[in-house]
Amino acid sequence: MQARRLSVPRTNPLRSPLFTPINFSAMGETRSRPRAARPGPARDGSYCTGRCLLDKVGKAVQQEEKAMGAPKIAIVGAGMGGMAAAGTLRQAGIEVEVYEQAPLFGRIGAGIQMLPNSMKVLRGIGVEAMLRERAFAPYSHLNRVGDTGEIKRELPMPESLYGAPFLCMHRADLHEALSSVVPSEVIHLNKKLTGVEQNGGPVSLFFADGTTAQADAVIGADGVHSRIREIIIGADQPIHRGRIAYRAVFDSGLMPREIAPSRTKWWGEDRHIVIYYTRKDRSEVYFVTSVPEPGDWIAKESWSAKGDVRELRAAYAGFHPEVRMVLDACPDCHKWAILERDPLPSWSQGRIVLIGDACHPMTPYMAQGAAQAIEDAAVLARCLNGVSIDGIEAAFKRFEAHRKPRTSRIQAISSANTWMSGGDDDPSWLYGYDAWNVPLDQPAPTPGAAARPAAA
Ligand SMILES: Cc1cc2nc3c(=O)[nH]c(=O)nc-3n(C[C@H](O)[C@H](O)[C@H](O)COP(=O)(O)OP(=O)(O)OC[C@H]3O[C@@H](n4cnc5c(N)ncnc54)[C@H](O)[C@@H]3O)c2cc1C
Repeated sequence: MQARRLSVPRTNPLRSPLFTPINFSAMGETRSRPRAARPGPARDGSYCTGRCLLDKVGKAVQQEEKAMGAPKIAIVGAGMGGMAAAGTLRQAGIEVEVYEQAPLFGRIGAGIQMLPNSMKVLRGIGVEAMLRERAFAPYSHLNRVGDTGEIKRELPMPESLYGAPFLCMHRADLHEALSSVVPSEVIHLNKKLTGVEQNGGPVSLFFADGTTAQADAVIGADGVHSRIREIIIGADQPIHRGRIAYRAVFDSGLMPREIAPSRTKWWGEDRHIVIYYTRKDRSEVYFVTSVPEPGDWIAKESWSAKGDVRELRAAYAGFHPEVRMVLDACPDCHKWAILERDPLPSWSQGRIVLIGDACHPMTPYMAQGAAQAIEDAAVLARCLNGVSIDGIEAAFKRFEAHRKPRTSRIQAISSANTWMSGGDDDPSWLYGYDAWNVPLDQPAPTPGAAARPAAA
């Protein structure tokens, strides 16, 4: 069946009058749940009776009917992509259940940059204000030569440039914000997926604890080592080009002086380091490197693998005093194998689709891996909006046709590690993309194409 062309409204359904935010202050979370329309004073002070009430009841009934006909979707993986998809699909009236292998969500020490393209999606999900409260808004995207400090390229990032802020934050703050719009009842922890089966009807999911589940469709958001990718595309190893990332988040009070108020990438001959604050009050600083690693060091789940801070300092001994000042102050660090894959031949099979690192894992050099997973979440929700079970496969194909040209180019540019290293090419195809409003029946913008204006 041909999928209908639908676009997500610019207003966030979570902010519609049919939803009342509920503050679960003990958990530090704000959730939303539908509220039945009833006569009485609205929050803006107006009084709702007659036509206004009928409109509200009508909207509530439409919403309920839509939810009754909508497919029920299982999301495997509660990382950035899975949680973002849970948020966007619920906004489209789709019921989701999220299955995550981890027993709990920990606060692992790493930062993350959210450029304006992903901030626009996060704004639509309803978490922008929460992020602004905590995150650091760097003055610019700054690129400097590692030893001399000479500026290779600087892009000031005022919010007006791409219509959304550029924020740097702790990963856990982003994850917590995404979790705040997904009810905990639909997140199932300790559920390691081992298999999926489909034969034209509902999809069955099998977990390591012996339990099973069923859904009308499945989204594989299970990261670079995706089990679902293995099942629908075939097993292979991710590409490891012998480089690792050292990273640490630490108290900026340990540094003798402040760093520049930018997100700075310091470029060396065969290595680089990116440094930025992760808190609005500049109380926390983060760095992430890319450095050649002798031997074949790959850790599968290595967010907790320790690095040797003395080896790290030695690797950057020839760098600018600001870099050395940060590394000297850093008490300890972790290390992570940098993995990527070539674009996959296909992102879906029947009623199973992949998003995020499960289908387009990339090096972190453009700071776009999570951003692309978050963009996927918005576009997938738009493709599924109003689609019945019969339309799921076509919706998945439409999603891939729009998204894949863009993510494949980003994978290639990120792998080459040339982004913003100089020149003056226009980055608006990347940062200006608006996943909520871009036309879906054309490929998403790639280099050379300015971001298309929002759909009317
Ligand atoms: C050093 C480094 C720095 C980075 N910096 C940035 C940045 O600044 N900005 C940016 O946008 N991106 C950045 N990225 C990329 C970003 O971290 C990833 O692209 C992003 O986390 C991908 O999200 P995801 O949800 O697809 O996968 P993940 O975040 O990996 O989530 C996958 C989830 O699935 C779960 N899972 C896996 N297998 C199973 C299973 N069998 N059953 C159930 N659950 C399962 C996992 O436990 C995990 O919770 C960086 C990456 C690295 C390595």
